Amino acid sequence: MTVLLDMKTVMILIVLGHLFSVLLISAYWRTHTKDQILSKFLLAKLTQGFAWMLIVVRNGIPDVYTMSIANSLLFIGFALETVAMLRLMQAFNRSAKMLYIVLTLGAIIGYLFVIVFNNHENIRIAEASIGTALIMVVPAYFMIRSKAASYIMKLMGLLYIFTIVSLIGRAIVALVSDQTIGMFTPGIYQTFTFLALFLIMFIGNIGFVLLLKEQADQELIRLANYDDLTGILNRRTFVSLSKQMIDEYAKKREHLSLVLFDIDHFKNINDTYGHHIGDRALQQLVKRIRSMLRGTDSFSRYGGDEFAILLPGADESEADRMVEAFRLATTQILIPDMASSLSISLGVVTLIPTEQTRLETLYKLCDKALYDAKHNGRNGAARTRSVSLPG
Ligand code: GH3
Ligand code: MG
Repeated sequence: MTVLLDMKTVMILIVLGHLFSVLLISAYWRTHTKDQILSKFLLAKLTQGFAWMLIVVRNGIPDVYTMSIANSLLFIGFALETVAMLRLMQAFNRSAKMLYIVLTLGAIIGYLFVIVFNNHENIRIAEASIGTALIMVVPAYFMIRSKAASYIMKLMGLLYIFTIVSLIGRAIVALVSDQTIGMFTPGIYQTFTFLALFLIMFIGNIGFVLLLKEQADQELIRLANYDDLTGILNRRTFVSLSKQMIDEYAKKREHLSLVLFDIDHFKNINDTYGHHIGDRALQQLVKRIRSMLRGTDSFSRYGGDEFAILLPGADESEADRMVEAFRLATTQILIPDMASSLSISLGVVTLIPTEQTRLETLYKLCDKALYDAKHNGRNGAARTRSVSLPG
């Protein structure tokens, strides 16, 4: 498998690729200078661009100083880029940081060691290839194995693996070949190099930008659909999901229950213990009740200390059983620095919806039941009977 390539041209394309990426990314970065991941990525590209430029300008002249500097910069550039990628995927922690310091220093020291003790181009190439491949193992593994990985991440993971294989192939060819081969020597070795270098550039540029966009999209979706404090659905998203569910259950002619609940005397909690304890109470309550829900149930913060739960498939007895479990569980929640216990009042409505059933009507009836529960002394539930429902 020999691809006849002029390696000098390939190198120049790679230098230009990096330079143009730096140019475009820095234009975007001007308005995002606080974005640490992007700043790191830009620094990585600059370092790599500079290193490739040194290699091309050198043009095979055996200058050990230029080679040492260029290769060290490449290791640093690849490591910075990988770190930016891992941070973007929230997969960067203290141990990953230590690993990358060790890998980068190890690759640089290994390269200098070869130059000092056995300065043969084949061995230098093998060392540089293996050093670069090792830097890429962690993102490749994470992207392939992570359960939360998107299609883009999985594909990038495969490209990383392909790159690692090409780099290892390059190292093996360099080691077993009895001829001296260099950056610009044609042959199978060159094919491996070409594949590896181009993939590194593509994953680095397009992959990173797509990943950045994907993360930004996910954050926007989260902000648009979920409540910031508790992490459950906001009212708008709950309303739209519930409408779909009502239509679906009207077609299936199956039961569906709506529950509204509100914390009792929540103002007192805020006044007595402070707003931050009130916030914590809201979070703990949501965490507890969320753990009791089934996969099909939707849970939303309707506003302030009022919450709504849609229980598809739950008839009266099932909904009553769940509502009583929510009430009881709430009284057992322990909140640090809060001496009094929490309680909630709940309103429930159950029906088999029809095409005419409106969520607004269900909400009004449920709110009336909640009002009754408050009126009956709180820490309890009330329901509007389905027979009184229109539709
Ligand atoms: P009731 O038993 O009748 O429900 O009495 P209550 O004191 O709970 O009255 P109400 O439900 O009207 O009070 C809601 C309070 O919730 C008022 C508001 O200060 C508080 N609140 C709303 N949103 C938040 C929040 O995000 N954090 C905190 N800590 N308090 C909130
Ligand atoms: Mg309340």
